[in-house]
Amino acid sequence: MTTAEHSHSGANAEGVRWDLSPLASDARAAQELLTEGIARARTFAERYRGTLATITPATLATALDELAVIDNMLSRASSYGHLREATDVSNPENRDLSATIDRNLVDAGNVLRFFDLEWLALDQEIADVLANAPELAPNRHYLLAARRFAPHTLEEQEERMLAEREPAAVSAWQALYGRITSTLEVDFDGGDGPEPHTIDRLLAHVRNPDRALRQRALETLYVGLEPQTETLAQVYDTLVGDRLATDKLRGYGDPMDRTHLNNELDGAVVNRMMEAVEAHYGLAQRWFRAKAKILGLERLELWDQYAPIGNGRAVDYLEARTLVETAFGRFSPRIEGVARDFFSQSRIDAEPRPGKRGGAFCAPVAQDAPAYVLMNFTDQMNDVMTLAHELGHGMHFTLSAERQSAMSMHTGLALAEVPSTFAELLTFDHLLATESDPDTRRALICERVEGSFATVFRQTVLARYEQRAYQSRDEGSTLTAERLSAIWMDANRAYYGDSVQLPDGYRFGWSYIPHFISTRFYTYAYAFAHLTTLALYAQYREHGAAFAEQYMEFLAAGGSKSPADLLAPLGVDLSSPKVWDAGFEEMTRMVEVAEEG
Ligand SMILES: [Zn+2]
Repeated sequence: MTTAEHSHSGANAEGVRWDLSPLASDARAAQELLTEGIARARTFAERYRGTLATITPATLATALDELAVIDNMLSRASSYGHLREATDVSNPENRDLSATIDRNLVDAGNVLRFFDLEWLALDQEIADVLANAPELAPNRHYLLAARRFAPHTLEEQEERMLAEREPAAVSAWQALYGRITSTLEVDFDGGDGPEPHTIDRLLAHVRNPDRALRQRALETLYVGLEPQTETLAQVYDTLVGDRLATDKLRGYGDPMDRTHLNNELDGAVVNRMMEAVEAHYGLAQRWFRAKAKILGLERLELWDQYAPIGNGRAVDYLEARTLVETAFGRFSPRIEGVARDFFSQSRIDAEPRPGKRGGAFCAPVAQDAPAYVLMNFTDQMNDVMTLAHELGHGMHFTLSAERQSAMSMHTGLALAEVPSTFAELLTFDHLLATESDPDTRRALICERVEGSFATVFRQTVLARYEQRAYQSRDEGSTLTAERLSAIWMDANRAYYGDSVQLPDGYRFGWSYIPHFISTRFYTYAYAFAHLTTLALYAQYREHGAAFAEQYMEFLAAGGSKSPADLLAPLGVDLSSPKVWDAGFEEMTRMVEVAEEG
């Protein structure tokens, strides 16, 4: 037990800082752990390099155990360094430690790379026999899934050539894009006189209660973007062209195939999901019309989309803790206990302070070490949801670390946000059942509805836009700003219909979305995870405690199976065309509640 258990929290979670000492006593201890991890990695390479072709199941199991030990050491040391830096980015000692860690991790990666390559080089039959041996049961999925890219991997020399040209062919363009979009500044008066505003700062105004301010912010953004759009389009055109060309070399038939493989999802499942989402665009339009009425407007303009409705009351950190623990406890005492440990063991850093990074995250740390949460608590109702979200990740990491190895504990992108979203829904339901302030209830409900829309509908619009851009490029059309704008507006008009008036400048909306540049088709995984969570929640409503038991098994299974196999026991059958119905029913129910105001 630590002192934080007894301390009080003032405004803005004052004094709620984490205690990293269980991970490493100080920077020197972290360095030593790192050094030992690297030394073990070298010994591992000496022992196993060149042996995989003839390895026995028992020896492979021993090798994986050793890899897990190395992974735990390196993960613990690097998490310690990065967590320290996250609460004090300006401290030179922290920056030095982080830089040393990153360098060492690259070294470790190089030393250990042979293992993956030799595993990939095995004939499929040999790999199957090994992976299916009883000794390797805990890592079976990890071993087999690692091979899914094997059919698309080229000869070593070719892979090297592709890797060597990557900095110029890919990274340089991404860096150029990053430089343009992060340094772009436009003068804007947000109320304190004209000041240079970045894209993010302008976009933050869309939640301002002042309608004229929201409008000016978006219009200023579009005016600022316009001179850059030809260059930004050229960057995208180059990247798409390169991706299409390397796809052909690697034998991918469709530009989305590689992403599907990454997410371990069947392309047909994703296509059906996107079509189901599009078939429900009417639900979003229904809400936009209702929102116009609530705001007393004839019709929503784009800058009214996220206009706040209602005002959430203040919530202090202690109340937030109670709310989240109670909400989790209604689902299962086990989950409540996991959350309580985060608080009582000082594994949450909630106090905002100078030098601490913004936003929120849950760091899994390592399979043999506990997870930590960082957030910036400002006494708002929204912070309760953020706390629940991060603790949702925390319960996933905690339960999967108990049952899985360092290799099999993590799920891919498709399911990673499921436990966090589920934890938000539990908390939302509890708040709805207990909150008496009508203004706070309205704010909560609207944020819930609009959050779901932003994740399910909006991310699907983005994926559809990308799909058409790749198709257009593949058919020989250069992706100019004008063409991208046309594709963008088509995809968006399908979503908004006539329920929201789209300003002319919105045609440049594609130009500042970084996912298109960094990771293609990244966005659909958000929609997938959210809809999956809603489907799970519908199962929970129906089956109660019996579902909770199954859900805990799902969390404990970590990444030991594919998404489809993990979800099947929970009553979510990805192969069924009706799998998403329950999710849309949940969303419809929420819109109905929101319409009542
Ligand atoms: Zn998350």
